[in-house]
Amino acid sequence: MTANEIRQSFFDFFKEKQHTIVPSASLMPQSPGLLFTNAGMNQFVPYFLGTDKAPYDPARAADTQKCIRAGGKHNDLEDVGYDSYHHTMFEMLGNWSFGDYFKEQAIQWSWDLVVERWGFPADRLYATVYMPSEGDPGHFDQEAYDIWAKLFEGAGLDPKRQIVNGNVKDNFWMMGETGPCGPCSELHVDLTPEGDTDGKLVNMDSDLCIEIWNLVFIQYNAEADGSFRDLPARHVDTGMGFERACSIMQGTKNFTDFSQKPTNYATDVFQPIFRKLEQLSGKTYQDIYPESVDADKSQISPEMKEAIAFRVIADHIRTLSFSLADGILLGNTGRNYVLRRILRRAVRYGRTLGFTGETTFLPELVDTLVDQMGGIFPELVERRKAVKENLQREEASFNETLDRGLAMFESEVGNYQQVVGGEFAFKLYDTFGFPIDLTQLLCAERGLKVDMSKFEELMEQQRELGRQARTQALVRAADIATDAVTEFVGFEQDEVVTKVLEVHPQ
Ligand code: ATP
Ligand code: MG
Ligand code: MG
Ligand code: MG
Repeated sequence: MTANEIRQSFFDFFKEKQHTIVPSASLMPQSPGLLFTNAGMNQFVPYFLGTDKAPYDPARAADTQKCIRAGGKHNDLEDVGYDSYHHTMFEMLGNWSFGDYFKEQAIQWSWDLVVERWGFPADRLYATVYMPSEGDPGHFDQEAYDIWAKLFEGAGLDPKRQIVNGNVKDNFWMMGETGPCGPCSELHVDLTPEGDTDGKLVNMDSDLCIEIWNLVFIQYNAEADGSFRDLPARHVDTGMGFERACSIMQGTKNFTDFSQKPTNYATDVFQPIFRKLEQLSGKTYQDIYPESVDADKSQISPEMKEAIAFRVIADHIRTLSFSLADGILLGNTGRNYVLRRILRRAVRYGRTLGFTGETTFLPELVDTLVDQMGGIFPELVERRKAVKENLQREEASFNETLDRGLAMFESEVGNYQQVVGGEFAFKLYDTFGFPIDLTQLLCAERGLKVDMSKFEELMEQQRELGRQARTQALVRAADIATDAVTEFVGFEQDEVVTKVLEVHPQ
């Protein structure tokens, strides 16, 4: 199946089970605490909290949700390109029950989809269930265990081998300190060439044992006093990594060939962007399997470096284009700065592929992405022009300082051994616009670290100066007309909003 067919097959399956297929929510999160929408459930929070009633009959939904995990609680940015299955932007396929079906049905359907319909070999599937340690919330999820056990036994397999206990970190989901929460069960797929031949769970820790689907069973409410109350209405919230599903099915030729290690990048999700990048750069993408995210970056071979550059750029152009299409611009603070950092990383990786900076390459990738994804995400088509213009401006602007910054880096980095000075990193930031993660990356490529505490100290000093200057400017604006201040606050700059409130206590 192609990626589009896999996505459609997920929708069809849950449509048959009377789910309403809903559109993805915007990447701009509804909750003020998030940088970006980072999970399928974000848009359904009011139904779980009971503040709104789900408008579906029966109360079930399924969708694909655009997610970004590049900051905050979930930050996968550093893994991108260095492993085969973490992206900054990905699609999370999900099905939900809002007080309707629960564990039995959710687990059964997950099995029916992956094993019966898609053909995942059951002996390569591991299901995790929640097992608390002392002091952790809830209790062992016997219910989930029993349901999985029946399914594995039905396939002639030993449940003790296929079901793995998981801890509170991986297998208990909480929305926050208080509120709806519950245990979860995750499906992992063993993609090692040999499979698990000796009957021991040797492969769970392997990079080739991929977590594909998380089924969360929301059944408690965490109370302010630390206790857990049973919820009157129990919910199901699931999330499946779409690109991982594609990788597993396409990379094993529908489970007939485990000799090639699958990567998300080898799928038709990424291939069109690679083809365009190849055309622009004159280089060829080779799907070399990454060593490990923890591999020493100073020891990476030139071929691998190029593969990583392809992957990072393909990942980042998606994150940037989808964000811009949802109206999230590049800027200096908060989520806007996350995007700017991502763009600057992409531009620097472009140098690895031979882009010199005389012209821009990121806007050239947009049409390919829009042609590929615009059918599912029409906002890409609608905002195509704005996406390109923003990328063009931002890339051109960074091109003005990147090479001078790199030249300075090259000429001065030799002065350091092991740890690069915070002043040096700050200068790269302040004069050449190098985000700190970019400097850290350049240093890691030489086996060096950055003195982060000094860097942070200098950043804090600069922020303090900025705060003082801004407060003065706002006080002046407020003196002239309150309306002018309100208008100014329209920008997404949390810091500025705070300052205005201080000037005008309600
Ligand atoms: P992992 O342990 O691999 O980082 P996770 O436990 O953080 O995944 P969940 O929060 O459970 O992920 O999200 C549900 C599903 O979304 C995961 O099972 C996985 O298939 C997918 N997923 C999560 N993070 C990413 C990512 N950065 N890129 C691609 N898919 C992802
Ligand atoms: Mg994760
Ligand atoms: Mg996980
Ligand atoms: Mg998970």
